[in-house]
Amino acid sequence: MTTTSTETLMEKLTSLCKRRGFIFPSSEIYGGINGFWDYGPLGAEMKRNIKEHWWRSMTQDRDDVVGIDSSIVMHPRVWEASGHVESFADPMVDCKSCKSRFRADKLDEYRAEKGAKAPPTGCPSCGGELTDARKFNLMFKTFVGPVEDSASVAFLRPETCQSIFTNFKQVQTVSRKKVPFGIAQMGKSFRNEVTPRNFIFRSREFEQMEMEFFCSPKDDQRWFEHWVQQRFDWYVGIGVRKEKLRLRAQTADELAHYAKAAFDVEYEFPFGWQELEGIAHRGSYDLEQHAKFSGKDLSYFDEETKEHFLPVVIEPSAGVDRTFLTLLVDAYAEEQLQEGEERVVLRLHPKIAPVQVGVFPLSKKLAEPVLELAKSLRKEFRTFYDEAGAIGRRYRRQDEVGTPFCVTYDFESQNDNAVTVRERDSMKQERIPIATLAEYLRGKF
Ligand code: ATP
Repeated sequence: MTTTSTETLMEKLTSLCKRRGFIFPSSEIYGGINGFWDYGPLGAEMKRNIKEHWWRSMTQDRDDVVGIDSSIVMHPRVWEASGHVESFADPMVDCKSCKSRFRADKLDEYRAEKGAKAPPTGCPSCGGELTDARKFNLMFKTFVGPVEDSASVAFLRPETCQSIFTNFKQVQTVSRKKVPFGIAQMGKSFRNEVTPRNFIFRSREFEQMEMEFFCSPKDDQRWFEHWVQQRFDWYVGIGVRKEKLRLRAQTADELAHYAKAAFDVEYEFPFGWQELEGIAHRGSYDLEQHAKFSGKDLSYFDEETKEHFLPVVIEPSAGVDRTFLTLLVDAYAEEQLQEGEERVVLRLHPKIAPVQVGVFPLSKKLAEPVLELAKSLRKEFRTFYDEAGAIGRRYRRQDEVGTPFCVTYDFESQNDNAVTVRERDSMKQERIPIATLAEYLRGKF
């Protein structure tokens, strides 16, 4: 296998994503808009697979977590209580000559990225003088209703978890859950990032998958450890190579002021080890703040001990888009085949791959029975039918989008009622009777 150089790997992935319909720059016909991306047909499918897998493992596979799906715009007081109005800000600096804007705390990272080309001091793009750092609030502001005044200001949520806290009491009551239990939610979040970068790693509109697990302060440590491990294992379970993942404890100066402890799940991207997900012990800060700002009692009554208390919260907070990027980076490979031939392959886990089975007639003349076969496979597997071009090219096209199995129906199939199944990674081919094909594939998945 040839290893691709750091910089070009991201470029190659970005171009593959565009060419094959995973991800496009948003509003591209107008020149694009920085920090916003659109998922194309294959990307939308793969993103759904990630989310469905998360949802299943966090809610449906357990009996102690329930889900919600709340609104993006909330009462503006929510963001006062959460501290976002006051302090959800990054320090930013502007270059006095070229007017570029950077996060002051990331200047070294930008310079390192530019490598030898970067001026040693000053602005990373042109070497110009920088302004002093200023705080810049990352929340997108909007107005609710027809009047644009200060009373109608609202924000697009910068994280999905706050509505879990504001709904805590209601959800607990209607679901009749006892502490310890969790509430999960996934959906869009918005941050007016100063410098969106690294493809979909840092964008201005993205999706989060968050869960708040409410427990007693008596067994919080056990639950914290449980979730740190569970979340690490989740990435391994969707096929990410273990040696590219690590857990890192946040240092005292990285921790949010209310957090008692936090671990980041990190992946080794071509641009360094970066956070995929944070698992934080948030204490009872959030419920305390919302109780204070709303004037409502958000405490929990334990029927066994007859005590009222504010549960403490363990929060695993993940990014859909960062997981997506991780899976792409991790799965991408270029291989030298015989006779100077090369192939690009995405070794995506079958659970995540946008297409699970490619179905091909060797010749267009054989289309009819193969269309029937595709129709029956489609009931169970994400199936793609393709009759165009040489069979080798059809295989390559599926390798490049990560399809784990391709099924070819040839002239012999009419006689032996069997097809050739080709496995993506080993490229091994096997003859399988059509009657047992679905069972065979089921076994592989
Ligand atoms: P960073 O330090 O990278 O800005 P953060 O620590 O502010 O991230 P959190 O607020 O903990 O991030 O958000 C939880 C998760 O949401 C992150 O681990 C990441 O997966 C995702 N996320 C946060 N900001 C973005 C963004 N701008 N683009 C894409 N995903 C994001």
